[in-house]
Amino acid sequence: MVRVELPPSTNACTSSRPRPRVLLFDIDDTLVTTGGAGRRAVVRALEATCGPGPWLGFPLSGRTDRSIVREALRERGLLDGEPLIDEVLETYLRLLVEEVATAASYGAHPGVETLLDLAAARAQHDPLAIGLGTGNLRRGAAIKLERVGLWRRFSFGGFGSDHEDRSEILRLGAERGARALGLTLDQCQVVVIGDTPRDVAAALAVGARAVGVATGHFEAAALRESGAAAAFDDLTRPGAAEAVLG
Ligand SMILES: [Mg+2]
Repeated sequence: MVRVELPPSTNACTSSRPRPRVLLFDIDDTLVTTGGAGRRAVVRALEATCGPGPWLGFPLSGRTDRSIVREALRERGLLDGEPLIDEVLETYLRLLVEEVATAASYGAHPGVETLLDLAAARAQHDPLAIGLGTGNLRRGAAIKLERVGLWRRFSFGGFGSDHEDRSEILRLGAERGARALGLTLDQCQVVVIGDTPRDVAAALAVGARAVGVATGHFEAAALRESGAAAAFDDLTRPGAAEAVLG
């Protein structure tokens, strides 16, 4: 379990130290809106690899890249093994560069940059690791965040290239964050920031605290109902920074 309390501090110097914390931010509809660039790149990759659509007759929110392609191929009865999924994903990454570069409505969500500034300042003196927990392939995450100058803000993460299952992605990201702090995972409070019930469910599955943001397709109330400890319309709202940073 992640939520293991640290042993009691034994001297006054350490008694006020906050509990070490690992932050794992989702990307799509949490940090940025890509204006549909990701979906367009997946559809084009499927068309280029497997033929004309219609493709993606299901919502993509909260899914991992590999699971999206697997479901798309299954939907059309074309799923015949992992190499085809790999080929679609390679094509997707090539096309994503174009789609992200040309997307019209693209940007960071309100409050994201301010919160990341606050987190970076906090990490100067407190044990805080700032990372990603995303279904995007690592290269895709970099492509999406570089356009808004946010990729350099994250030194580690769990990615869709690590695993197809979101909770395993978060577990790996959390372990990397703990390692970056020189700690084990059970010494850290892990906080997952995401916009879908899938983010929340994956967070709870690894014993993390979930903070929801309603900047995607789900209302704050729905995120709270799915188990988020707190949820906000966006990260500018009162209490949001405290919920994330402690
Ligand atoms: Mg998302």
